[in-house]
Amino acid sequence: MDTEPYFYHPLENIEDIAGFEAAVERKKLTPKLSPERPYTYWTLEIYDQKNGIRGGGGLGVLAADTRRVAEQMGVPLTLVTPFYPSEYHQVLRDGEVFDEKRSVNYRDFGFRFIDNVFIKCCGNLCKLDVVQKEFKNTRILAITEPNFGELYSGMSGSDHRLYQEVSLGFGGYAALKLVGLKPAIMQLNEVATFFAALARLDELASNGMDFYEAMVYTRKHTLYTNHTLVQAAEAEFSREQFERFVYPNLKSRPVRKWLDDKFVDGRLKLSAATIEIAELRSGVSKLHARVANYHDIAGNKVKFKAVTNGIDMKTWVLPEILDFYEKQGILDHFTAPKVDFPEKLTALDSEKIREFKAAGRKVLNEVLATRPDQNGTILEFSDDDFIFDFKRRFVDYKRPELPFSDPVKLRAILEPRGAHYILTGRVCTGDERMTKKLAEILETVAADDYLKDHVHYIADYDEKLAYGLSAGSNAAINLPIVGLEACGTSWMKDVANLNLLISTHDGGVADAVAENYLNVTGKTDEEEAEQLYARMEEAIEAWENDFELEFLIQKQLAAYLPVVSGARMLQDYLNYLFN
Ligand SMILES: *Cc1c(COP(=O)(O)O)cnc(C)c1O
Repeated sequence: MDTEPYFYHPLENIEDIAGFEAAVERKKLTPKLSPERPYTYWTLEIYDQKNGIRGGGGLGVLAADTRRVAEQMGVPLTLVTPFYPSEYHQVLRDGEVFDEKRSVNYRDFGFRFIDNVFIKCCGNLCKLDVVQKEFKNTRILAITEPNFGELYSGMSGSDHRLYQEVSLGFGGYAALKLVGLKPAIMQLNEVATFFAALARLDELASNGMDFYEAMVYTRKHTLYTNHTLVQAAEAEFSREQFERFVYPNLKSRPVRKWLDDKFVDGRLKLSAATIEIAELRSGVSKLHARVANYHDIAGNKVKFKAVTNGIDMKTWVLPEILDFYEKQGILDHFTAPKVDFPEKLTALDSEKIREFKAAGRKVLNEVLATRPDQNGTILEFSDDDFIFDFKRRFVDYKRPELPFSDPVKLRAILEPRGAHYILTGRVCTGDERMTKKLAEILETVAADDYLKDHVHYIADYDEKLAYGLSAGSNAAINLPIVGLEACGTSWMKDVANLNLLISTHDGGVADAVAENYLNVTGKTDEEEAEQLYARMEEAIEAWENDFELEFLIQKQLAAYLPVVSGARMLQDYLNYLFN
């Protein structure tokens, strides 16, 4: 049994992969991450359409980006996740949105069947398929079966959810062994993946290690990444559900006893158990790590290490812009910002910005060519058009309706410039409140003879739209109620692609001070709406004025490129885990 600590070299200030390898060599550090002992990343959700898996939002985009960044940095990483045999798409008919279920086959996306693993539930042996897709130094190891269902099917706390979570945890852990891997570290992307750490603890404790030793070992090698603000909002399960789905899979009696003690009034909150099984814990932005309100079983407040999410630049940044960042020495080979990058940003003058935006607009037009708006119109924008966008899941706290609180004012801002406003975002299946809100927005828009063909709703928000809009619009609007966005990554795509950011000061945006972008504040929704309109006017004016445009875009990048960089994020994780 290998119990010595794992070392990994801190990657700061290393310019390229050769330099990185040389540094590891120099320091004679044992890179304990190896192809056979990879970094393992556990997630119920991954948003990676190219590989056939569609997530629900930011959590899944983050998972896909983490793997891609690891691939580029040469970090051996195995991502363990379900492959959902069906997924939902949103369709718009006569101004109303509907969900449509479509089936997906893993074979169409380059996954290969490996073998079966079994878990026990409800007195039966459940057969799971292990399928795998390998890349250079990373892989996606997926658990699936024909009736696995879709992401977030059933209510949180339902039997089916628990079945999916237990399948990923116990099934995924068995799958790792099947392909001959031992996890150097287990990163749990939210508490739904708790059962993976439990499977490991159970294996160690039932294979000769005493329980206490097994617990210490598991804790030291498990990182729980929290994306939720309040523990009260977390899913919980009953003991009776655990008796059907979880206990039958446990071999060790002390592990059962340990789990028993996590129940309060016959119910178990996964967060409570996850906090106990993971010594390493992180939050996804500085603000979120500070305010996430979690307590351990003893009632002590849990500390989270801030590791702000980042994006994979190669996926999300227009190639022309990325090339510029690299040639100018703004980003290194890993797409992490170089130390002196702010000085280099002066090369990004308004002429360049406009040139890049014209290239981005082409991409946007291509994406929109197959995605009509609510009127059935196929949109095509010229380089001279001005576009605002709001692209995010339709959930309450993100406030998609705020820009429509004063339609007369909105029109007064858009009309003189002939500006457009593109809105996209899926409503979570079954969320009647937000379905109604969307219908109301569309009614407001339809009732105004300017807005009706300058405000466009595009259905079925996905990665392609996110990319097209980041690359092709002029200003992006992000309005979470302050304190409710854990990080957010759409705004990162906008900043990196040279859009002006109009935002409240929340999530990862609050990693830097509010002077760095077009900030929206206010004590009430009305005040915030007023300020939003003022900021929209400023954004239009800035794009009319070369000096102002350069100034604002350079300032945004100087403050946020390090935040946005996925390579920076992975370096932060490696430093936290192995130093
Ligand atoms: C980037 C992205 C997200 C993340 O959205 P946030 O609201 O910023 O968390 C969600 N969905 C898709 C399709 C994305 O591309």
